[in-house]
Amino acid sequence: MSDVTREQFDEVMVPNYAPGKIIPVRGEGSRIWDQDGREFIDFAGGIAVSALGHAHPALVEALTTQGQKLWHLANVMTNEPAIKLAKRLTDLTFADKVFFCNSGAEANEAALKLARRHAYLNHGPEKNEIISTLSSFHGRTLFTVSVGGQPKYKEGFEPTPGGISHVPYNDLAAMAAQISDKTAAIIVEPIQGEGGVTPGKKEYLEGLRALCDKHNALLIFDEVQSGVGRTGALYAYQKFGVTPDVLTTAKALGGGFPIGAMLTTDECAKSLGIGTHGSTYGGNPLACSVSLAVIDALTAPGVLDAVETKAERFRAGLEAINERFHIFKEVRGMGLLIGAELTSDWEGRAKDFLGAALDEGLMILVAGPNVLRMAPSLIIPDADIDEGLARLEKAVAKVVG
Ligand SMILES: *Cc1c(COP(=O)(O)O)cnc(C)c1O
Repeated sequence: MSDVTREQFDEVMVPNYAPGKIIPVRGEGSRIWDQDGREFIDFAGGIAVSALGHAHPALVEALTTQGQKLWHLANVMTNEPAIKLAKRLTDLTFADKVFFCNSGAEANEAALKLARRHAYLNHGPEKNEIISTLSSFHGRTLFTVSVGGQPKYKEGFEPTPGGISHVPYNDLAAMAAQISDKTAAIIVEPIQGEGGVTPGKKEYLEGLRALCDKHNALLIFDEVQSGVGRTGALYAYQKFGVTPDVLTTAKALGGGFPIGAMLTTDECAKSLGIGTHGSTYGGNPLACSVSLAVIDALTAPGVLDAVETKAERFRAGLEAINERFHIFKEVRGMGLLIGAELTSDWEGRAKDFLGAALDEGLMILVAGPNVLRMAPSLIIPDADIDEGLARLEKAVAKVVG
Protein backbone atom coordinates (compact mmCIF):
# COMPACT_ATOMS: atom_id res chain seq x y z
CA MET A 1 0.00 0.00 0.00
CA SER A 2 1.27 3.43 -0.93
CA ASP A 3 1.05 6.17 1.67
CA VAL A 4 0.05 8.60 -1.08
CA THR A 5 -3.71 8.73 -1.54
CA ARG A 6 -6.17 10.47 -3.86
CA GLU A 7 -7.76 12.11 -0.79
CA GLN A 8 -4.51 13.96 -0.18
CA PHE A 9 -4.94 15.68 -3.54
CA ASP A 10 -7.92 17.57 -2.16
CA GLU A 11 -5.93 18.53 0.92
CA VAL A 12 -2.89 19.98 -0.78
CA MET A 13 -3.83 20.99 -4.33
CA VAL A 14 -5.51 24.16 -5.53
CA PRO A 15 -8.96 22.84 -6.49
CA ASN A 16 -8.85 23.84 -10.17
CA TYR A 17 -8.86 20.16 -11.24
CA ALA A 18 -11.05 17.22 -10.31
CA PRO A 19 -8.93 14.19 -11.24
CA GLY A 20 -10.32 10.62 -11.33
CA LYS A 21 -10.38 8.42 -8.28
CA ILE A 22 -7.28 6.35 -9.17
CA ILE A 23 -3.62 7.34 -9.18
CA PRO A 24 -1.71 5.92 -12.16
CA VAL A 25 1.86 4.94 -11.32
CA ARG A 26 3.25 3.27 -14.45
CA GLY A 27 2.70 3.15 -18.17
CA GLU A 28 3.95 1.08 -21.08
CA GLY A 29 2.79 1.58 -24.66
CA SER A 30 -0.98 2.16 -24.51
CA ARG A 31 -1.46 0.54 -21.09
CA ILE A 32 -1.37 2.22 -17.68
CA TRP A 33 -1.37 0.71 -14.18
CA ASP A 34 -2.64 2.33 -10.99
CA GLN A 35 -1.43 2.05 -7.38
CA ASP A 36 -3.36 -1.21 -6.93
CA GLY A 37 -1.91 -2.78 -10.06
CA ARG A 38 -5.17 -2.37 -12.02
CA GLU A 39 -4.56 -2.10 -15.74
CA PHE A 40 -6.14 0.49 -18.05
CA ILE A 41 -6.10 0.95 -21.80
CA ASP A 42 -5.20 4.52 -22.67
CA PHE A 43 -7.35 6.15 -25.36
CA ALA A 44 -6.70 9.57 -23.75
CA GLY A 45 -2.99 9.75 -24.52
CA GLY A 46 -2.53 12.49 -21.94
CA ILE A 47 -4.78 14.69 -24.15
CA ALA A 48 -2.91 14.18 -27.42
CA VAL A 49 0.48 14.35 -25.71
CA SER A 50 1.67 10.73 -25.50
CA ALA A 51 1.89 10.26 -29.28
CA LEU A 52 4.28 7.33 -28.84
CA GLY A 53 2.56 5.87 -25.80
CA HIS A 54 4.22 5.55 -22.43
CA ALA A 55 7.90 4.74 -21.77
CA HIS A 56 8.80 4.46 -25.46
CA PRO A 57 12.35 3.04 -25.49
CA ALA A 58 13.70 5.68 -27.90
CA LEU A 59 12.38 8.50 -25.71
CA VAL A 60 13.67 6.93 -22.50
CA GLU A 61 17.03 6.54 -24.23
CA ALA A 62 17.09 10.18 -25.40
CA LEU A 63 16.14 11.45 -21.94
CA THR A 64 18.64 9.35 -20.00
CA THR A 65 21.50 9.94 -22.45
CA GLN A 66 21.04 13.71 -22.42
CA GLY A 67 20.33 13.55 -18.67
CA GLN A 68 23.88 12.44 -18.10
CA LYS A 69 25.38 15.15 -20.27
CA LEU A 70 23.76 18.56 -19.81
CA TRP A 71 20.40 19.62 -18.42
CA HIS A 72 20.20 23.33 -18.69
CA LEU A 73 21.87 26.52 -19.83
CA ALA A 74 20.56 30.04 -19.65
CA ASN A 75 19.68 31.61 -22.99
CA VAL A 76 23.06 33.35 -22.97
CA MET A 77 24.28 30.04 -24.45
CA THR A 78 22.74 27.82 -27.09
CA ASN A 79 22.99 24.02 -27.16
CA GLU A 80 23.23 21.20 -29.71
CA PRO A 81 19.81 19.54 -29.16
CA ALA A 82 17.99 22.88 -29.59
CA ILE A 83 19.75 23.68 -32.85
CA LYS A 84 19.23 20.15 -34.15
CA LEU A 85 15.53 20.22 -33.30
CA ALA A 86 15.02 23.63 -34.87
CA LYS A 87 16.81 22.41 -38.00
CA ARG A 88 14.60 19.31 -38.13
CA LEU A 89 11.36 21.29 -37.65
CA THR A 90 12.29 23.82 -40.31
CA ASP A 91 13.31 21.04 -42.74
CA LEU A 92 9.96 19.30 -42.24
CA THR A 93 7.66 22.35 -42.42
CA PHE A 94 7.09 25.71 -44.12
CA ALA A 95 8.98 27.45 -41.34
CA ASP A 96 12.42 29.09 -41.51
CA LYS A 97 12.68 29.97 -37.82
CA VAL A 98 11.71 28.48 -34.45
CA PHE A 99 11.09 29.90 -30.99
CA PHE A 100 11.11 27.34 -28.17
CA CYS A 101 9.06 27.50 -24.97
CA ASN A 102 7.42 25.02 -22.60
CA SER A 103 3.73 24.74 -23.40
CA GLY A 104 0.97 25.42 -25.87
CA ALA A 105 -0.20 28.56 -24.13
CA GLU A 106 3.32 29.97 -24.23
CA ALA A 107 3.68 29.10 -27.91
CA ASN A 108 0.43 30.97 -28.61
CA GLU A 109 1.46 33.86 -26.38
CA ALA A 110 4.62 34.15 -28.51
CA ALA A 111 2.62 33.92 -31.75
CA LEU A 112 0.16 36.63 -30.67
CA LYS A 113 2.92 38.91 -29.44
CA LEU A 114 4.80 38.36 -32.69
CA ALA A 115 1.67 39.25 -34.68
CA ARG A 116 1.13 42.49 -32.76
CA ARG A 117 4.75 43.51 -33.00
CA HIS A 118 5.02 42.60 -36.67
CA ALA A 119 1.99 44.77 -37.44
CA TYR A 120 3.34 47.57 -35.24
CA LEU A 121 6.74 47.61 -36.92
CA ASN A 122 5.45 47.26 -40.48
CA HIS A 123 2.15 49.15 -40.42
CA GLY A 124 1.97 51.19 -37.21
CA PRO A 125 0.23 50.94 -33.83
CA GLU A 126 -3.33 51.08 -35.24
CA LYS A 127 -3.00 47.60 -36.70
CA ASN A 128 -3.31 45.51 -33.56
CA GLU A 129 -6.57 43.56 -33.74
CA ILE A 130 -6.72 39.82 -33.36
CA ILE A 131 -9.61 37.76 -34.67
CA SER A 132 -10.29 34.36 -33.18
CA THR A 133 -13.17 31.89 -33.41
CA LEU A 134 -15.95 30.91 -31.02
CA SER A 135 -15.39 27.61 -29.16
CA SER A 136 -11.64 27.80 -29.79
CA PHE A 137 -9.07 27.01 -27.12
CA HIS A 138 -5.62 28.55 -27.07
CA GLY A 139 -4.35 28.12 -23.49
CA ARG A 140 -4.77 29.56 -20.01
CA THR A 141 -2.58 32.65 -19.79
CA LEU A 142 -4.51 35.90 -19.64
CA PHE A 143 -3.83 36.72 -23.31
CA THR A 144 -4.68 33.20 -24.50
CA VAL A 145 -7.93 32.89 -22.49
CA SER A 146 -8.90 36.27 -23.93
CA VAL A 147 -8.19 35.08 -27.46
CA GLY A 148 -9.84 31.69 -26.85
CA GLY A 149 -13.50 31.55 -27.79
CA GLN A 150 -14.87 30.12 -24.53
CA PRO A 151 -16.04 32.93 -22.22
CA LYS A 152 -16.11 30.65 -19.13
CA TYR A 153 -12.31 30.60 -19.08
CA LYS A 154 -11.95 34.34 -18.67
CA GLU A 155 -14.87 34.95 -16.31
CA GLY A 156 -13.66 36.74 -13.21
CA PHE A 157 -10.21 37.38 -14.62
CA GLU A 158 -11.11 40.69 -16.26
CA PRO A 159 -9.92 43.19 -17.27
CA THR A 160 -8.57 41.16 -20.18
CA PRO A 161 -6.41 42.49 -23.02
CA GLY A 162 -8.35 44.40 -25.68
CA GLY A 163 -8.37 44.38 -29.47
CA ILE A 164 -9.69 40.82 -29.68
CA SER A 165 -12.88 39.65 -31.42
CA HIS A 166 -14.53 36.29 -32.02
CA VAL A 167 -16.54 34.99 -34.97
CA PRO A 168 -18.16 31.57 -35.59
CA TYR A 169 -15.80 28.79 -36.71
CA ASN A 170 -15.99 27.49 -40.29
CA ASP A 171 -17.92 30.65 -41.26
CA LEU A 172 -15.90 32.48 -43.89
CA ALA A 173 -18.49 35.21 -44.43
CA ALA A 174 -18.36 36.10 -40.71
CA MET A 175 -14.58 36.35 -40.88
CA ALA A 176 -14.73 38.43 -44.07
CA ALA A 177 -17.11 40.82 -42.32
CA GLN A 178 -14.85 41.14 -39.28
CA ILE A 179 -11.39 41.48 -40.87
CA SER A 180 -10.06 44.91 -41.80
CA ASP A 181 -6.77 46.67 -42.38
CA LYS A 182 -6.55 47.01 -38.58
CA THR A 183 -6.34 43.23 -38.22
CA ALA A 184 -2.90 42.04 -37.13
CA ALA A 185 -3.74 38.33 -37.17
CA ILE A 186 -6.35 35.62 -37.43
CA ILE A 187 -5.74 32.65 -35.14
CA VAL A 188 -7.51 29.31 -35.65
CA GLU A 189 -7.11 25.66 -34.83
CA PRO A 190 -7.24 23.71 -38.14
CA ILE A 191 -9.29 21.25 -36.06
CA GLN A 192 -10.94 22.61 -32.93
CA GLY A 193 -9.97 20.20 -30.15
CA GLU A 194 -11.32 21.27 -26.76
CA GLY A 195 -14.27 22.93 -28.49
CA GLY A 196 -15.66 19.55 -29.60
CA VAL A 197 -13.27 17.99 -32.16
CA THR A 198 -14.52 20.00 -35.14
CA PRO A 199 -12.37 19.82 -38.29
CA GLY A 200 -12.00 23.01 -40.27
CA LYS A 201 -13.27 22.90 -43.83
CA LYS A 202 -10.57 23.09 -46.50
CA GLU A 203 -12.35 25.96 -48.32
CA TYR A 204 -12.62 27.80 -45.01
CA LEU A 205 -8.91 27.59 -44.25
CA GLU A 206 -8.10 28.54 -47.86
CA GLY A 207 -10.45 31.49 -47.52
CA LEU A 208 -8.74 32.63 -44.31
CA ARG A 209 -5.41 32.52 -46.12
CA ALA A 210 -6.77 34.75 -48.89
CA LEU A 211 -8.35 37.20 -46.42
CA CYS A 212 -5.08 37.50 -44.49
CA ASP A 213 -3.15 38.13 -47.70
CA LYS A 214 -5.62 40.81 -48.76
CA HIS A 215 -5.43 42.66 -45.42
CA ASN A 216 -1.73 42.11 -44.61
CA ALA A 217 -2.68 40.10 -41.55
CA LEU A 218 -0.82 37.06 -40.27
CA LEU A 219 -2.51 33.66 -40.32
CA ILE A 220 -1.72 31.75 -37.14
CA PHE A 221 -2.53 28.04 -36.96
CA ASP A 222 -2.72 26.71 -33.43
CA GLU A 223 -1.61 23.10 -33.96
CA VAL A 224 -0.95 22.42 -30.30
CA GLN A 225 -3.45 19.55 -30.42
CA SER A 226 -3.65 18.73 -34.15
CA GLY A 227 0.11 18.69 -34.72
CA VAL A 228 2.96 16.19 -34.46
CA GLY A 229 1.37 13.41 -36.47
CA ARG A 230 -2.12 13.43 -34.93
CA THR A 231 -3.90 13.68 -38.29
CA GLY A 232 -1.51 11.39 -40.15
CA ALA A 233 0.52 14.33 -41.47
CA LEU A 234 3.23 15.85 -39.28
CA TYR A 235 1.08 19.00 -39.14
CA ALA A 236 -2.56 19.31 -40.15
CA TYR A 237 -1.85 22.31 -42.41
CA GLN A 238 0.04 19.93 -44.69
CA LYS A 239 -3.12 17.84 -45.07
CA PHE A 240 -5.22 20.89 -45.89
CA GLY A 241 -2.61 22.38 -48.22
CA VAL A 242 -2.96 25.79 -46.54
CA THR A 243 0.23 27.35 -45.19
CA PRO A 244 0.08 29.70 -42.20
CA ASP A 245 2.57 32.46 -41.38
CA VAL A 246 2.92 31.22 -37.83
CA LEU A 247 2.28 27.76 -36.39
CA THR A 248 2.22 26.80 -32.75
CA THR A 249 3.00 23.31 -31.52
CA ALA A 250 3.35 21.68 -28.10
CA LYS A 251 1.51 18.70 -26.52
CA ALA A 252 2.88 15.70 -28.50
CA LEU A 253 6.04 17.61 -29.45
CA GLY A 254 7.73 16.26 -26.34
CA GLY A 255 5.76 13.01 -26.15
CA GLY A 256 5.18 13.77 -22.45
CA PHE A 257 8.18 15.99 -21.74
CA PRO A 258 7.14 19.67 -21.58
CA ILE A 259 8.09 21.64 -24.68
CA GLY A 260 6.35 24.07 -26.99
CA ALA A 261 7.44 25.88 -30.12
CA MET A 262 6.37 28.65 -32.43
CA LEU A 263 7.32 28.15 -36.06
CA THR A 264 7.41 31.03 -38.51
CA THR A 265 8.96 32.55 -41.62
CA ASP A 266 12.17 34.58 -41.89
CA GLU A 267 10.12 37.68 -42.66
CA CYS A 268 7.92 37.44 -39.53
CA ALA A 269 10.74 36.27 -37.27
CA LYS A 270 12.54 39.57 -37.87
CA SER A 271 9.90 41.29 -35.76
CA LEU A 272 11.05 39.48 -32.61
CA GLY A 273 14.53 41.01 -32.42
CA ILE A 274 17.02 40.69 -29.60
CA GLY A 275 15.43 41.15 -26.18
CA THR A 276 11.81 41.37 -27.38
CA HIS A 277 10.66 38.01 -25.98
CA GLY A 278 12.08 35.09 -24.02
CA SER A 279 11.68 32.02 -21.83
CA THR A 280 14.11 30.64 -19.23
CA TYR A 281 13.53 27.01 -20.17
CA GLY A 282 12.88 27.55 -23.88
CA GLY A 283 15.23 25.31 -25.86
CA ASN A 284 16.16 23.30 -22.79
CA PRO A 285 18.54 20.49 -23.90
CA LEU A 286 16.58 17.69 -22.15
CA ALA A 287 13.28 18.75 -23.73
CA CYS A 288 14.84 19.20 -27.17
CA SER A 289 16.59 15.80 -27.04
CA VAL A 290 13.35 14.03 -26.22
CA SER A 291 11.50 15.99 -28.88
CA LEU A 292 14.09 15.04 -31.50
CA ALA A 293 13.50 11.39 -30.62
CA VAL A 294 9.73 11.94 -30.97
CA ILE A 295 10.15 13.49 -34.42
CA ASP A 296 12.56 10.74 -35.52
CA ALA A 297 10.22 7.98 -34.38
CA LEU A 298 7.17 9.55 -36.02
CA THR A 299 8.88 10.26 -39.32
CA ALA A 300 10.32 6.74 -39.60
CA PRO A 301 8.92 5.01 -42.74
CA GLY A 302 5.30 3.90 -42.42
CA VAL A 303 4.54 5.34 -38.99
CA LEU A 304 2.40 8.31 -40.05
CA ASP A 305 0.86 6.31 -42.91
CA ALA A 306 -0.49 3.84 -40.34
CA VAL A 307 -2.35 6.58 -38.44
CA GLU A 308 -5.22 6.66 -40.95
CA THR A 309 -5.59 2.86 -40.92
CA LYS A 310 -5.78 2.85 -37.14
CA ALA A 311 -8.24 5.75 -37.22
CA GLU A 312 -10.50 3.74 -39.56
CA ARG A 313 -10.40 0.82 -37.13
CA PHE A 314 -11.45 3.18 -34.35
CA ARG A 315 -14.29 4.72 -36.33
CA ALA A 316 -15.59 1.32 -37.45
CA GLY A 317 -15.58 0.20 -33.80
CA LEU A 318 -17.38 3.33 -32.64
CA GLU A 319 -19.96 3.00 -35.44
CA ALA A 320 -20.55 -0.62 -34.39
CA ILE A 321 -21.14 0.49 -30.79
CA ASN A 322 -23.51 3.13 -32.14
CA GLU A 323 -25.47 0.61 -34.20
CA ARG A 324 -26.20 -1.24 -30.97
CA PHE A 325 -26.90 1.71 -28.66
CA HIS A 326 -27.72 4.73 -30.87
CA ILE A 327 -25.97 7.19 -28.56
CA PHE A 328 -23.83 9.11 -31.09
CA LYS A 329 -25.15 11.80 -33.39
CA GLU A 330 -21.84 11.90 -35.24
CA VAL A 331 -18.36 10.36 -35.11
CA ARG A 332 -15.86 12.88 -36.47
CA GLY A 333 -12.29 14.13 -36.35
CA MET A 334 -9.12 13.69 -38.33
CA GLY A 335 -6.67 10.84 -37.95
CA LEU A 336 -6.40 9.80 -34.31
CA LEU A 337 -8.14 12.89 -32.95
CA ILE A 338 -11.61 11.42 -32.70
CA GLY A 339 -14.82 12.96 -31.38
CA ALA A 340 -18.12 11.17 -30.88
CA GLU A 341 -20.96 13.62 -30.27
CA LEU A 342 -23.83 12.32 -28.15
CA THR A 343 -27.43 12.50 -29.38
CA SER A 344 -29.82 14.94 -27.71
CA ASP A 345 -31.10 12.11 -25.48
CA TRP A 346 -27.68 12.05 -23.84
CA GLU A 347 -27.14 15.81 -23.79
CA GLY A 348 -24.61 16.87 -21.15
CA ARG A 349 -23.78 13.26 -20.20
CA ALA A 350 -20.28 12.83 -21.71
CA LYS A 351 -18.73 12.70 -18.23
CA ASP A 352 -20.93 9.73 -17.29
CA PHE A 353 -19.47 7.73 -20.18
CA LEU A 354 -15.95 8.75 -19.17
CA GLY A 355 -16.56 7.54 -15.61
CA ALA A 356 -18.12 4.26 -16.75
CA ALA A 357 -15.20 3.66 -19.12
CA LEU A 358 -12.73 4.14 -16.29
CA ASP A 359 -14.65 1.55 -14.25
CA GLU A 360 -14.19 -0.86 -17.18
CA GLY A 361 -10.44 -0.18 -17.39
CA LEU A 362 -10.42 2.39 -20.20
CA MET A 363 -9.26 5.99 -20.20
CA ILE A 364 -11.05 8.34 -22.60
CA LEU A 365 -11.55 12.12 -22.74
CA VAL A 366 -14.43 14.48 -23.25
CA ALA A 367 -14.48 17.70 -25.28
CA GLY A 368 -17.23 19.72 -23.65
CA PRO A 369 -20.37 18.20 -22.13
CA ASN A 370 -21.59 16.36 -25.26
CA VAL A 371 -18.54 14.90 -26.99
CA LEU A 372 -16.47 11.82 -26.12
CA ARG A 373 -12.93 12.42 -27.29
CA MET A 374 -10.12 9.99 -28.02
CA ALA A 375 -6.50 10.93 -28.72
CA PRO A 376 -4.53 7.71 -28.22
CA SER A 377 -0.92 6.91 -28.99
CA LEU A 378 -0.31 7.13 -32.74
CA ILE A 379 1.35 3.71 -32.57
CA ILE A 380 -1.33 2.02 -30.46
CA PRO A 381 -1.38 -1.71 -31.35
CA ASP A 382 -4.55 -2.91 -33.14
CA ALA A 383 -5.12 -5.39 -30.30
CA ASP A 384 -5.28 -2.51 -27.80
CA ILE A 385 -7.72 -0.62 -30.02
CA ASP A 386 -9.98 -3.68 -30.15
CA GLU A 387 -9.73 -4.38 -26.42
CA GLY A 388 -10.32 -0.71 -25.56
CA LEU A 389 -13.39 -0.58 -27.81
CA ALA A 390 -14.71 -3.78 -26.17
CA ARG A 391 -14.32 -2.08 -22.77
CA LEU A 392 -16.03 1.04 -24.12
CA GLU A 393 -18.95 -1.07 -25.34
CA LYS A 394 -19.36 -2.55 -21.86
CA ALA A 395 -19.22 0.92 -20.32
CA VAL A 396 -21.83 2.24 -22.76
CA ALA A 397 -24.08 -0.76 -22.00
CA LYS A 398 -23.89 0.10 -18.30
CA VAL A 399 -24.71 3.78 -18.78
CA VAL A 400 -27.54 3.06 -21.21
CA GLY A 401 -28.77 0.40 -18.76
C1 LIG B 1 -3.89 22.19 -25.07
C2 LIG B 1 -4.01 23.30 -26.01
C3 LIG B 1 -3.40 24.54 -25.76
C4 LIG B 1 -2.71 24.86 -24.45
O1 LIG B 1 -1.57 24.10 -24.26
P1 LIG B 1 -0.87 24.07 -22.81
O2 LIG B 1 0.35 23.24 -23.03
O3 LIG B 1 -1.86 23.46 -21.88
O4 LIG B 1 -0.57 25.46 -22.44
C5 LIG B 1 -3.47 25.52 -26.73
N1 LIG B 1 -4.10 25.29 -27.89
C6 LIG B 1 -4.70 24.11 -28.17
C7 LIG B 1 -5.35 23.93 -29.50
C8 LIG B 1 -4.69 23.08 -27.24
O5 LIG B 1 -5.30 21.94 -27.51
